[in-house]
Amino acid sequence: MSKHVIIIGGGVIGLSAAEACLKRGHRVTVVDRQPQQRSGCSFGNAGMVVPSHFIPLAAPGMVALGFKWMWNPESPFYIKPRFDLDLVSWGIKFMQAATRSHVEAASPLLRDLNLASRELYLQYAAEGEDFGLVTKGLLMLCKTQHGLDEEAAVAAKANALGVPAEVLDAAGTAKVDPTITMDVAGSVWFPKDCHMAPEKFIAVLERRILAAGGTFRWNTEVTGWKKEGGRLRAIQTPAGELEADEFVLCGGAWSDDLVRDLGLKIPMQAGKGYSLTNPNPVELPTLCSVLTEARVAVTPMGNSLRVGGTMEISGKQEKIEPRRVAGILKALPDYFPKFKPSDFDGIKPWQGFRPCSPDGMPYLGRTRAASNLTVATGHSMMGLSLGPETGRLAAVLVDREKTEHDLAMLSPDRYA
Ligand SMILES: Cc1cc2nc3c(=O)[nH]c(=O)nc-3n(C[C@H](O)[C@H](O)[C@H](O)COP(=O)(O)OP(=O)(O)OC[C@H]3O[C@@H](n4cnc5c(N)ncnc54)[C@H](O)[C@@H]3O)c2cc1C
Repeated sequence: MSKHVIIIGGGVIGLSAAEACLKRGHRVTVVDRQPQQRSGCSFGNAGMVVPSHFIPLAAPGMVALGFKWMWNPESPFYIKPRFDLDLVSWGIKFMQAATRSHVEAASPLLRDLNLASRELYLQYAAEGEDFGLVTKGLLMLCKTQHGLDEEAAVAAKANALGVPAEVLDAAGTAKVDPTITMDVAGSVWFPKDCHMAPEKFIAVLERRILAAGGTFRWNTEVTGWKKEGGRLRAIQTPAGELEADEFVLCGGAWSDDLVRDLGLKIPMQAGKGYSLTNPNPVELPTLCSVLTEARVAVTPMGNSLRVGGTMEISGKQEKIEPRRVAGILKALPDYFPKFKPSDFDGIKPWQGFRPCSPDGMPYLGRTRAASNLTVATGHSMMGLSLGPETGRLAAVLVDREKTEHDLAMLSPDRYA
């Protein structure tokens, strides 16, 4: 039966959910507080589809690394110490989740969701959509032998999980991508990974939603809920109430604030990251890559080159921290010696807030807080990669059907 579904949030998750609900015959309204010409986390990201990322952020070693990097203003991971009970509680939960057993339980699910999403991206491309999809894989570039040994251990786990990964020396790496000069000890090549231009993919989704009869309400902030019995009747906005049969929350890093009044606790911190896009790079790789020791992502997008990185847990202040941007640019010539940080002079850094749950896993499922609310958020560093499959699953949940994957680990009620 066709229902009216309100999707809160017009990022990659919300738009993917909207398209999937329309495909199932529902009437869909996407509500976003920003104008259509917006620039959120789903736009300036590194554009990678990453079956290689089957290890959640909350993993052994990350806590120690976080403490080590806290004191370095150019480091790629930073938690700004501040008195904030939400942050303290999030940090404790992160530490509790950063265990081997959590990673072992999470990896097969992340693999399955990423691979399923990759298939959906291939489908979009097969339908003739042009969003710059390149399916040649990703190189985890290692400057040092120690780094390569560590990545080789991840590659062994990947192969055991059925995600193909090949360990390459410097010459082997150059053979996989001969279009760029590299100075590395070696790499791990994940041939199933892909990259694209995320802004183009968002435009594709918006066009498809409109063509399928979906409606957008831009500049419309959701400020509250109207609940009757155990069900939501409407969302409140400055323009009045909007009623629907089903609601899907895809509010990115703001999602936790949005559901607080419903008594739903989905702990979330904004993980700020930056990117810079050079329209005229001195060289252009064919594959996307991660500079592993520096945690910097490098992606060719058409003739441009985007570099991005840092995970700054410092609240939701839209302030660009020049030292962290400098840290990203300084790393580039270490791996790609033809580049200089000054190649990016005059290019305005973009920033985005990754929606980070403490256990590094998305929130995807129905909730006890309201019987007609589905939550789809908290994808941290993998929201673009997991977008289409998350959207498809959200639509399955809207229809109260059984999902193919066991989503118990992703329950929005897991911290209730
Ligand atoms: C530097 C960087 C590089 C990245 N690289 C990659 C990558 O290569 N691959 C990958 O998979 N992921 C990557 N990510 C992560 C990815 O960008 C995010 O996971 C993803 O964009 C999150 O999408 P979202 O739809 O959940 O959130 P968002 O894109 O933030 O969308 C949420 C929307 O909700 C709206 N909203 C919030 N509150 C309200 C309200 N009260 N009322 C109405 N609307 C509201 C906002 O306006 C916003 O439009 C990267 C992130 C960064 C920062």
